[in-house]
Amino acid sequence: MNHIQGIASESLIPAIMKRGENGADMTKNSKKKKTDRKKAKLKPAVSGFKPVAKAKDVFRKLADDKRNYDLKNTCEKAVLDAHYFSAYRGRRVIKAGGPGGRSFSLYIMFISKKAAAGGAGGVNLVRHEYGHTVQLRRIGLIPYLFGIAIPSARSGRVPEPEYYDLVTEVTADKLGGADRPHSSEAVQAGEAYLKSLGKKVPRKNSANK
Ligand SMILES: [Zn+2]
Repeated sequence: MNHIQGIASESLIPAIMKRGENGADMTKNSKKKKTDRKKAKLKPAVSGFKPVAKAKDVFRKLADDKRNYDLKNTCEKAVLDAHYFSAYRGRRVIKAGGPGGRSFSLYIMFISKKAAAGGAGGVNLVRHEYGHTVQLRRIGLIPYLFGIAIPSARSGRVPEPEYYDLVTEVTADKLGGADRPHSSEAVQAGEAYLKSLGKKVPRKNSANK
């Protein structure tokens, strides 16, 4: 008996160890299941989704935007109130942010829906992004991308008052007429920086300047 017990207890050791390992795996699995369940709770149930009503809502909003569309619009609030698209001082505006939901501008202004909800800050945001489109038209696409857009995206973690004093940002505020205080040193540095990026040679028959 003792001998058998001995064998039994010896052979039990790895089994227990295995169970221990499995046990650990099982807690991992159950944790994973819990988080999966949490995620599932956060997501709206598919059965509650009404695609027809949703599509109707989208069409209604698109019709709203189309009706209100005016390329020469100078009202920032009209831009902030638009659902998907609008225009501002000759620039087209898409109501969607870039990576991280941030607003940015190329030839088109991309205004984040999140940021646009910020009231008075939203007005300055629209003006600032317009200022970026003026920078682009002044220096051309490639210098704008490498001199303004990319460095600007990289300095996204700089806190707000200082952010708008950066050489890439301060002239966007000035050219767009954003109502923010800037030190004269910051403005001068920004202007010198923009100048250093060069001036675009105007193309023949270019409509927008
Ligand atoms: Zn900017």
